[in-house]
Amino acid sequence: MNWFLRGIQAGIRTEDYPASGTDAPLGATPGLPVTTALSNSRDAAELGGRCPTEAIAADGEIALVNRDRCVHCMRCAAGGGKTKMEWRSDFDWAHGATEGEAIEQLSAIFGRSLHVRIVDAGDCGACLNEIAHLNDPLYNAHRLGFFVTPTPRHADVLIVTGPVTRQMKAALQTAYEAMPDPKRVIAAGVCAVNGGIFGPSLMCGGGALDAVPVDVVVPGCPPPPLAILHALLVVCGRKPPARNQAISRGGAS
Ligand code: SF4
Repeated sequence: MNWFLRGIQAGIRTEDYPASGTDAPLGATPGLPVTTALSNSRDAAELGGRCPTEAIAADGEIALVNRDRCVHCMRCAAGGGKTKMEWRSDFDWAHGATEGEAIEQLSAIFGRSLHVRIVDAGDCGACLNEIAHLNDPLYNAHRLGFFVTPTPRHADVLIVTGPVTRQMKAALQTAYEAMPDPKRVIAAGVCAVNGGIFGPSLMCGGGALDAVPVDVVVPGCPPPPLAILHALLVVCGRKPPARNQAISRGGAS
């Protein structure tokens, strides 16, 4: 009886995304750094040097962020008197594979029943762990009409994680070719977007784009569940993609 009473008392805990854009659990990622105008060029250069993945580049006093390279190490958010980047706290991170090019979204018929095949193409486990949370009661992707399928023959969307190792490239292409048309591909996580910290290298390429036609990319290392849900909503035309980044003028020193 206890579990039943606890459930009644707790009420509904499922996130109401996309109605709200916040994520409640402790430990959820704080978001993404955004291009920030600082007070001088020295601070911008210092921030660029602090970033281990070269996601920050200084252009005068502006610290430009390449969101597709950020691995959330938080070095640019560190306090202690150091200059800090501004961060965005929403989770609408997914955008087209080619900057500025329109995404060919699936028709509305897929809007309430979208079947997703996931291919681990050399994932370290982090992105897959976040994807696994989509079926938790907390995120409950089924309420939005998204279902994971074990076979590419039933899939409308392919989610690729990992930098696409040499050994996985052919398997990924086989899975893509087995999917019926129309089909779309999401590269989830910076490794799948551009190889991340692993590629291009001897053992892997520069992400999913080297192997299959990618429609939507979602940055993050790993991307949190709400960002992955945003990518799925973008694919079926239920949410707009992330806009190009505007310059934030709140850099703290
Ligand atoms: S969080 Fe780390 S990887 Fe991302 S932009 Fe900041 S310093 Fe670079």
